Amino acid sequence: MSEVPSIAPVVIIGGGVVGVSSLYHLAKAGWKDCVLIEKNELTSGSTWHAAGNVPTFSTSWSIMNMQRYSAELYRTLGARVDYPTNYHVTGSLRLAHTSERMLEFQRVRGMGRSQGMDIEIVGLNDIKSRYPFLETHDLKGALYDPNDGDIDPAQLTQALAKGARDMGAKVVRFCRAASARRESDEWIISTDKGEIRCEFVVNAAGYRAQEVGRMFGRVVPMMVMGHQYLIFDEIAEIAVWSKEHGKKLPLLRDVDSSYYLRQEKTGMNLGPYERICRARWATADDPMPDDFSFQLYPDDLDRLEWYLRDAVERVPILARAGLSKVINGPIPYTPDGNPLIGPIPGVPNAFEACVFTFGIAQAGGAGKVVAEWVIEGKTEWDMWSCDPRRFTNYTDHQYCVDKGMEVYGNEYAIVFPRHTWPAGRDKKLSPLHERLEALGGQFGPYNGWERANWYAQPGDDTSERATETFRREGPWEKRVREECLAVRDRAGILDLPGFSRFEVDGPGARGWLLSLITGAVPQPGRIGLGYFADDDGRIVTEMSIVALNENSYILITAAMAQWHDREWLEKHLTKSSGIVITDVTADFSCQIVTGPASRAILSAVTDGDLSKEWLTHQTARIAGRDCRLLRISFAGELGWEIHSANADTATIFESVWECGKNHGLKPFGMFALDSLRLEKGYRTWKGDLSTDYTVLQSGLERFIRWDKARFIGKRALVDERRRGVKKRFVTLTVDASDYDAPYMSTIWRGDEIVGEITSAGYGHRVNKSIVFGMVRAAWSEAGTSLEVEMFGERQKATVEADQALWDPHNERIRA
Ligand SMILES: Cc1cc2nc3c(=O)[nH]c(=O)nc-3n(C[C@H](O)[C@H](O)[C@H](O)COP(=O)(O)OP(=O)(O)OC[C@H]3O[C@@H](n4cnc5c(N)ncnc54)[C@H](O)[C@@H]3O)c2cc1C
Repeated sequence: MSEVPSIAPVVIIGGGVVGVSSLYHLAKAGWKDCVLIEKNELTSGSTWHAAGNVPTFSTSWSIMNMQRYSAELYRTLGARVDYPTNYHVTGSLRLAHTSERMLEFQRVRGMGRSQGMDIEIVGLNDIKSRYPFLETHDLKGALYDPNDGDIDPAQLTQALAKGARDMGAKVVRFCRAASARRESDEWIISTDKGEIRCEFVVNAAGYRAQEVGRMFGRVVPMMVMGHQYLIFDEIAEIAVWSKEHGKKLPLLRDVDSSYYLRQEKTGMNLGPYERICRARWATADDPMPDDFSFQLYPDDLDRLEWYLRDAVERVPILARAGLSKVINGPIPYTPDGNPLIGPIPGVPNAFEACVFTFGIAQAGGAGKVVAEWVIEGKTEWDMWSCDPRRFTNYTDHQYCVDKGMEVYGNEYAIVFPRHTWPAGRDKKLSPLHERLEALGGQFGPYNGWERANWYAQPGDDTSERATETFRREGPWEKRVREECLAVRDRAGILDLPGFSRFEVDGPGARGWLLSLITGAVPQPGRIGLGYFADDDGRIVTEMSIVALNENSYILITAAMAQWHDREWLEKHLTKSSGIVITDVTADFSCQIVTGPASRAILSAVTDGDLSKEWLTHQTARIAGRDCRLLRISFAGELGWEIHSANADTATIFESVWECGKNHGLKPFGMFALDSLRLEKGYRTWKGDLSTDYTVLQSGLERFIRWDKARFIGKRALVDERRRGVKKRFVTLTVDASDYDAPYMSTIWRGDEIVGEITSAGYGHRVNKSIVFGMVRAAWSEAGTSLEVEMFGERQKATVEADQALWDPHNERIRA
């Protein structure tokens, strides 16, 4: 047993596969003397009992990136570090019972191709030839992923540990982190073997991450489920088939029945994700024990009966096998099922790499990402889907339990674009919530805030079932069109609670903002858009800047960006600057009133000067309540945002609503807003705007002030401009009838993939299916004919001019 060193650049807490992979990748990147501490033996948490499946399939671009990287790493790791990993690349068949499932497969196949993977869609005969023991009569087809496989999780961890140690890293076993404190900008980690002083710390404590998080004052949003798989004895047919073919059967995932079935030696391993599932350690009378190393829960087979029967019907030879072992172990879940990888919100030089539900498949990629976060403070791939800051203060314990159970029970469910999950709702309600509900509001959560997505009319189908479709058409579509056309012809009102809002005050605030954004800071009285780039010129975020005076600004940004953007601002603030940032998100609300009649409506209720031009703001009163009117509209029509204290929002709404009746004012929702903004070429954060692209690639050069002496990202952007921008943001219109293109669909020119889609939808004012995407610069000229792949079919698309499809000269918005 080694003793702990007193000092190290990085301390990783937790020796499961993820912590060890992080150590390996840090060492590989040249940070050779980092330390990992593990309270027991390596792998003693969830890792030792994992089934070891290593899929690449994901409907998330970044998760697919991580898993693809892992699979590539595992292929060569054993040889590279001279330690066996027992990795089998078997391929996998993912079965489809429904046409919608086939569409999901087609979509993922497209994404996989973009990432260089040859995923195939196969028919029934092909399925049978790859897996002769399978009942196929009720199937539509399958997705075949040749890269899928399985690995021994303990050997994988040991191989990564050997690789890390060989490069100089230190692993200290039986060494528990007990507490952490900050001293002179460094962390002191107290362990039961002494203290370690370090610059950076990583919480890789798996299902114990919440316990370790508390040492840093952080409540990790997570819960723990009991997850089981069953191992069956030898089945003669499988033994014979394997011998004859010299390989294992492909792994089978019957996703519509919600289980996987994998060849284990010459028997089988069945792993269901049950709809009726069980949270563990979730209540006061079931506390997490101090130590659960290498332990399992008792078998809980009743829950699995249905899945076992279903699997026997699917692969009848399974009926002949005896059950030899049940594994029932702890598996941690975040509220959306993705892990936490990245900076711990509000805690300096501390990162999370924990709460993995597919940690074996993701550890390789996660280790790479953790090393990048620690060493460079940024990652190659945009990793927002796993960023700890995506959850904010609404994720209380019950929320985590409810969402974790929902995600687990629907682990293989199709993610439909208009569907919202029912658990953990109503965490934050607008002062208008009940009012809007009575008007037919159908809500969805945005950073915990419920916002109306669309407004149903009596008789509309508002069931969850109706949203389980990829088709554009659905009960909402007629209403969304009506809402868009009301905004075009008369006026609409949209309640937007939860806009993130920061007040920035202090002498020098203007200069400070100028150093952060690529462009200009608006003059007092005006509003501007600020783009925040990283050192590589990639887009970190976008905020609206409301200039009150030289020294005071309000920054407004996406609801879900609250913690992320606040941290970016605070990170770049020096203590001596005298600038103060105050997060006032919870105090204010925003309503958009927009459309040609909006001036007439507002003029009857406000003392504000509605002749003030576009991109100005003013304080005003409506119904005797103070508010700030911003002359902007994300919908792209004449309009104002009314920002008011929460307490005044309802009064203001009633006043506008009452007057609006005579002008055909209609409530509209987020679905309509999304359609309207597409027609205006307005990008959304973490869809079109992400660190996967630079400001220049995103077509935002007009927001760069090259004459500024300095701003973050300037050098990289100057270089990129000189070298020539290699890919560019484009707007395409597509010949699409039934569907709009899903996120990260591929864009083709002839036989080549030349780009990908960052957002898409239908524009009701222009009557077109619209796509925003990034394409190679050579194909970005207006008028270029391309094809957009939608669910496996290529549709003709045309690159539009670099201007909005609707009101390109902003005449309506300036009216
Ligand atoms: C039955 C089952 C089957 C599974 N099958 C698969 C699969 O096929 N494929 C897949 O990808 N995933 C699978 N998983 C999930 C997988 O096991 C986990 O995602 C993965 O093991 C997580 O690894 P980790 O390193 O994050 O956490 P862990 O393996 O839990 O490691 C965390 C470590 O931190 C240590 N630790 C905790 N607190 C402290 C402290 N204070 N000080 C020091 N050390 C501490 C613990 O002792 C532990 O060793 C399965 C899970 C279960 C339950």
